[in-house]
Amino acid sequence: MTVEPPFARIERGTHGASNHEDPDLMTSLDRIGSLLGRAGVPSMFRMLRPGLRVVLYHHVGKEDDFTRHLRCTNTEEAFERHVDWYRRNYDLVSMDDVLSDDPLPRRALLITFDDAYRSVLETAGPILKSRSVPATLFLVTDPVFEGRMILDNLLSYAQSRNPSLIGEVVPGRSEDPVREILLDEIPHGGLEARRRIREAIEAGIGADAWREANDSGLYLRSEDVPRLRGCGISIARHTASHANLRLVEDLRSEVVDSWEGAGLDSTLRSFSFPFGSFDDAEPSVAELSRLGLGPLFLVEGCVNRGRSRIYYRTSVGDLDERSLAVELELKPVLRTLRKSRRMKALEAVACG
Ligand SMILES: [Zn+2]
Repeated sequence: MTVEPPFARIERGTHGASNHEDPDLMTSLDRIGSLLGRAGVPSMFRMLRPGLRVVLYHHVGKEDDFTRHLRCTNTEEAFERHVDWYRRNYDLVSMDDVLSDDPLPRRALLITFDDAYRSVLETAGPILKSRSVPATLFLVTDPVFEGRMILDNLLSYAQSRNPSLIGEVVPGRSEDPVREILLDEIPHGGLEARRRIREAIEAGIGADAWREANDSGLYLRSEDVPRLRGCGISIARHTASHANLRLVEDLRSEVVDSWEGAGLDSTLRSFSFPFGSFDDAEPSVAELSRLGLGPLFLVEGCVNRGRSRIYYRTSVGDLDERSLAVELELKPVLRTLRKSRRMKALEAVACG
């Protein structure tokens, strides 16, 4: 049996677009999921398993040089299809519903976006608005308020336009160097590696990249942010610089000062981790709680049980409906079995 391509594709994503599985396990999960999906089991799970589902998107529209190597793009058609499928199968809720004390519907689903793509407002926004579907954007502030590109987009642009530059900055990379730099080189090399890579790429290509990002409308502008509300999209926090939080020395500056300095509502306390993994969350959860932030959103694709300080999201890529059902109903159960120890430990720290 072959692995269905959409699963293989999204699990290899970066930019928080991965549900953080190792490839061997994913092959097994994909096989099990395909078999049970054909037998209609995910629909039964949806009926039986209460709890909040949270889905994650980034960029909606056409893939470009800034996003190509991040695999974080949904086509407009796929996104629209997903929203209509959610409407048929779930009760769509807002972040306010998640934060309120009122009980959530049994099959609640929250749509979220990460980062700062203008396509969230201009492409996803009208689809959501026309159907009165709420969503939340976890907003990274540097590109919107400080004129500073997210390193992820800068790397994707460099790899698209000048791959030899990437080769000079980080020698010996494979055929997927952006992924390796973001998910391996920087998390293990630390802040110093991140700084060095950024400076070298900026010196080689940075001005062109920023000019083109502005011309193409890659990011939201500061004046766009209030317009999100008009499409039913609330905002929440996702750091200033989009660095792995495990590398950040001054958490207050990344998640509090930058937010308030941009004039954003300080009462908005929900936060999502860039890259969204346990490895990024574990070292900083206690400090984030001390800073008054939460609930905290990871990716990891596990089951959410009731209201919590920690929520898990599922990155869904351009899946068809049957694969979506497997991704949202079946795989979280299997992942939760495997990750329950880390989930419990994180919950304990977050709750103090
Ligand atoms: Zn992100």
